[in-house]
Amino acid sequence: MKNDNCLFCKIVNGEIPTQKVYESEKALAFLDINPVNPGHILVIPKNHSENLNDIEEEDYLAVQKVVRYIAPKAAEALGACGYNIGQNNLPCSGQVVMHLHVHIMPRFEGDGHELWHGKAYESDEKMQEIADKIRSTL
Ligand code: 5GP
Ligand code: ZN
Repeated sequence: MKNDNCLFCKIVNGEIPTQKVYESEKALAFLDINPVNPGHILVIPKNHSENLNDIEEEDYLAVQKVVRYIAPKAAEALGACGYNIGQNNLPCSGQVVMHLHVHIMPRFEGDGHELWHGKAYESDEKMQEIADKIRSTL
């Protein structure tokens, strides 16, 4: 399953060159061209899907299996002190390339990379209301 207009499908098919670091039957890992830190890796399913909303469970598990396998080893190889795993879903979250990808971002002391900023709930009732809303769909 390939999308002819998709950048990452072109990477899977070798139509665009990339620094591949690992692949399995259903997933591919390669260096991000514009890394948060050197060694920033993207892991993608070989089958096209846009994000978590449309990916087959089998493809997503294949992606996460590769993430789990390579993230600790890559961090060790790079001398990183830790790493962040991230995945943007849909444009308002920051997703630019609409082929699902998991970011593995190696971290180094003092690298200046910022995490998200949390905001407290205005009340316990509000927190309950939000949890109820989510639970009602599951
Ligand atoms: P998003 O914002 O969609 O979660 O992340 C897309 C990522 O893809 C960005 O970090 C960006 O640097 C990376 N990227 C965009 N185009 C290319 C490309 O042609 N090759 C590679 N290796 N990475 C790319
Ligand atoms: Zn694609």
